[in-house]
Amino acid sequence: MRIERLPHDVAMRIAAGEVVERPVSVVKELLENALDADSRRISIFLSQGGKSSLVVEDDGRGIAFDDLPLALERHATSKLSSLEDMEAIATLGFRGEALPSLAAVSRFEIRSRSVDDARGGVLRVEGGQPLLHAPLDLPRGTRVQVDDLFFNLPARRKFLKSASAELRRILSLVQAYALAYADRAFLVQSEGRTVFLSPGDGDVAALLRSLWGDDPPLRHLDVSVESFHALGWWQPAPGRGKSDVTAFVNRRRVQEGLFRAALASPGGDISGQWLVFLETPLDEVDVNIHPAKTEVRFRKSGPVFEVLRRLAMAFLERPQSFSLDRKGP
Ligand code: ADP
Ligand code: MG
Repeated sequence: MRIERLPHDVAMRIAAGEVVERPVSVVKELLENALDADSRRISIFLSQGGKSSLVVEDDGRGIAFDDLPLALERHATSKLSSLEDMEAIATLGFRGEALPSLAAVSRFEIRSRSVDDARGGVLRVEGGQPLLHAPLDLPRGTRVQVDDLFFNLPARRKFLKSASAELRRILSLVQAYALAYADRAFLVQSEGRTVFLSPGDGDVAALLRSLWGDDPPLRHLDVSVESFHALGWWQPAPGRGKSDVTAFVNRRRVQEGLFRAALASPGGDISGQWLVFLETPLDEVDVNIHPAKTEVRFRKSGPVFEVLRRLAMAFLERPQSFSLDRKGP
């Protein structure tokens, strides 16, 4: 058996599979790009739960016309320039992989106008093949459209769920980000109907109440251990025996396993819904574990576990305390 190099487009599609698993991963990458570009207003338009069409539009910094093709090249990024930068990543993106991955496995279009340009541009790519790069008059910001996700990766397309199931995942992700970035306005429309809207006024408590309701009342506390801070929101559901934990580390949505274990460690009843923001010095966390960036590793796991454990204890020791005036992270 001889060893052969895979054709470029096949290699790209395989690599894309690690970044993009389903429509919600597309939304996550595009949302993160919009947030990294300091957008104030982010709108998402979906058709078929994002399976047939998914658009993310923002009013952020935008991309210079000449840079548009570069944005679709693998390992091309404006967020990282040296290995030292990896020690303290302050942006949600840094790998330069999302846009090229999306362009490899969909019919893809990006329109953008940067703050410094009078005109913008459009770039269209289908299954990794460039079709068009042309100037266009546009408002400031970026609009990315991903149609027919995985049209050229049937093995992956088969694993997509129903439109309503994909939509549910997307809504849950966008709502979580809307809470973490309550100072930005989010909109989600599905088949032309508004299914989520957040005002971007910075009021986490009001947004949480609109999502979870206020019965039983929401509780809020924050706790620090060394330079680790945990801000928690909890809506107890005593005796339910189940807790939903939405976890953020430095305003990045992460898998909640460690959070759940630490919150449960005091041994009390932590049933109900949790929203927990952990803030750490940037050089204490490594987010470069997997292309999807939802796993993080901590340099010191001791104080991380401890601050989350103390957060749960503080809630359990003061069952009556709740404050709704905090504005969140
Ligand atoms: P990464 O986010 O890891 O840098 P991406 O492939 O997601 O990689 O994006 C590549 C580059 O394109 C980014 O570094 C950024 O410069 C630019 N970009 C992508 N989306 C946007 C956006 N919504 N607004 C402004 N610039 C963007
Ligand atoms: Mg990105």
